[in-house]
Amino acid sequence: MSGTNNTPPDNGRTSSSPDETSSENLVFDFVCRDPEDNALPCPICDGKGVYALDVPLGDPRFGKFQRCPNFPVREDRDMLARLRRYGNLEAYKDKTFDSFETTPFGGSYTQNVVSSLRMAKEAAQAYAAEPSGWIVFAGVVGCGKTHLAVAIGNERLEEHGLQVIFVTAPDLLDFLRMTFDARSDATYDDYFERIRNVSLLLLDDLGVENPSPWAKEKLFQLLNYRHVNKLFTVITTSQSVDEFDPWLSSRLLDPFVNLVYMNAPDYRRMKRAQSPGSPSINLQLYDEMSFDNFETESGTAAEAENLRRAAQLARKWVGNPNGWLCLIGAYGSGKTHLAAAIASQLYENGSSVVFHTVPDLLDFLRRAFDPKSNKRIDKHFHELLNAPILILDDLRLASATPWAREKLFQIIDYRYRATMPTVITTSETLEEMDKRVATRLLDQRVCHIFAIQARSYVMRATKRN
Ligand SMILES: [Zn+2]
Repeated sequence: MSGTNNTPPDNGRTSSSPDETSSENLVFDFVCRDPEDNALPCPICDGKGVYALDVPLGDPRFGKFQRCPNFPVREDRDMLARLRRYGNLEAYKDKTFDSFETTPFGGSYTQNVVSSLRMAKEAAQAYAAEPSGWIVFAGVVGCGKTHLAVAIGNERLEEHGLQVIFVTAPDLLDFLRMTFDARSDATYDDYFERIRNVSLLLLDDLGVENPSPWAKEKLFQLLNYRHVNKLFTVITTSQSVDEFDPWLSSRLLDPFVNLVYMNAPDYRRMKRAQSPGSPSINLQLYDEMSFDNFETESGTAAEAENLRRAAQLARKWVGNPNGWLCLIGAYGSGKTHLAAAIASQLYENGSSVVFHTVPDLLDFLRRAFDPKSNKRIDKHFHELLNAPILILDDLRLASATPWAREKLFQIIDYRYRATMPTVITTSETLEEMDKRVATRLLDQRVCHIFAIQARSYVMRATKRN
């Protein structure tokens, strides 16, 4: 950064950019071109993309930068890239209104579903064109609600250069819980403030988690603040509004909130059912996470290097999926992204792979082992035991019922004894972990453990600005 401040702008009043990180480059290169001749800098802004109005001191517009009409936001790649990183939207670039289909699968959806999707899309587009209040998309997992939420974010970001932050409610709650444990004050406050005040917040997958009282209290503060201050907020949820805590459901039923119910089945399940011979890959929410969009850039060089090594290791494992690979790291550190990328890549390579998020799997095991319904579980249980490649994301057993925990342990143990290709990610340390699982992970003949040392993306975001 040295020298930035002494680089004089070419013509007195206008400085080169409202953002100091790129001003150095802009002196030597111009971003806004003369529409008449692309080789020349734009005559309005002198190539800088922004200009200051020539108005007297005291005019409210004095000293404020205007975006040059020849340089619309969508052409400002630098800024868009920065906004995407800032908002955790890099993996979701393709989720736009154009790519949202209301009649996929050759019209196999019923008329009700099609019109529900159409109405939801229209509501989302209207909100993106002119946000007002909050909008909440409610529907089953995979119905397309995250796609619409992100499409709103992408449009605001691309067309208006607006600051948007995408965060999943479970990650946010974990972040809140963790920061409380760690008593880390400064970074925590900074990020909390940012989420609280961001122009547009996309809060994905608000659900029934049972957060700690502290996390719940902070979430309440956050939402209450955004509600009182009428800050634009998009929420998705797969539960019905009256299942929420009364304080939350009363806010969501406020006329200030546009509640959109989406009556559509799980898109991914439909998609997989459509392609014969597709393995029981169960990527659910993670279709968009690939190696290509795995973000290794970070606040610190050490973190970046650590993330690069993690990605390298994951790719290497895909090339030769033998034994176990275990990625340990904080919430949001990127381990789920890598696990999903491993699954997708293996799937593309033609391997048969089963991907499960452990909390969901435990929940499934708990319900399915209800004595009344133990037929289909056997089949499923054997599929898990014998899956050619099994990926268990977010392994944590503490909150599981003893019964579900035991079943999962059986799967892990079976695969350990047979050294079957398995990827495990966890945010528990080896000390916190179930002892029997930890012992198996520590067996170097079977398992390669890698610790992702990057902080959560939400924490890393705090360094970026
Ligand atoms: Zn210009």
